[in-house]
Amino acid sequence: MSSRHSATKATKKTSKRTKAAKKRPTTKRSVKKAAKPPATKKPPVVDTGESDTKRKARAGKILDQLKRSYGPATCALSHTSALELLVATILSAQSTDENVNRITPELFAKYPDAAAYANATVDELENDIRSSGFFRQKTKSIRGACRMIVDEFGGQVPDSMDDLLRLPGVARKTANVILGTWFGRNDGVVVDTHVGRLSQRMSLTWRSKNDKDAVKIERDLMEMIPRDDWTYFAHAMILHGRQVCLARKPRCASCSVATLCPSAVEDDD
Ligand code: SF4
Repeated sequence: MSSRHSATKATKKTSKRTKAAKKRPTTKRSVKKAAKPPATKKPPVVDTGESDTKRKARAGKILDQLKRSYGPATCALSHTSALELLVATILSAQSTDENVNRITPELFAKYPDAAAYANATVDELENDIRSSGFFRQKTKSIRGACRMIVDEFGGQVPDSMDDLLRLPGVARKTANVILGTWFGRNDGVVVDTHVGRLSQRMSLTWRSKNDKDAVKIERDLMEMIPRDDWTYFAHAMILHGRQVCLARKPRCASCSVATLCPSAVEDDD
């Protein structure tokens, strides 16, 4: 094929594309995409340049203030056993505690022990937890974890970090929730979306690159918060993240730890 012929063909193709582009209607979606996102007042994450000692002292004051603000904060997921807490925590991923608490009364009555979950059919369990979202993956995790609990732990949820982490679908966050909330053991700090975000804003983490870096955030918090308070601290931070330090628009003007937070913004209208 001659180069002239190729050039003509290419020109025709380009012209066809241009015409198609001109004809393409402007959909609502494309308008939305082009529009600027609504203005929010997310505070910037501030590098305080503090020494470890000063940061630790400030973290202690934040903890004291959270205790004054929230009193005995605890896990919001309804449960009466370690197994129920395990199942509820798995269900809470990408869902709200309120939604999980709506599903679990019927679920817990239907599946009284680990064997009941392990022996449930995929279809049935998927159907029972569908409204929590991501129900296929959650069904896989619950059935897998319960199968191992039956086969290797005599039907009882294990009470050590190493054993919990062996259960399918259980990572450090879930293990920390169970150990801290049910077994009363402070083996780590729960780092969920709220704890991650607030730790960044309050500059209580220096190893993490962003609020999704849960493992590094947890390590930093464990160095700064007294061990006896690890579980409490996470529960109080979760409450503070839900009620005051909201993801899109933190309410700094009414925040009880504003004087200790380097990301505080003055006006939160
Ligand atoms: S002052 Fe309070 S609400 Fe504002 S960013 Fe800091 S912790 Fe969040």
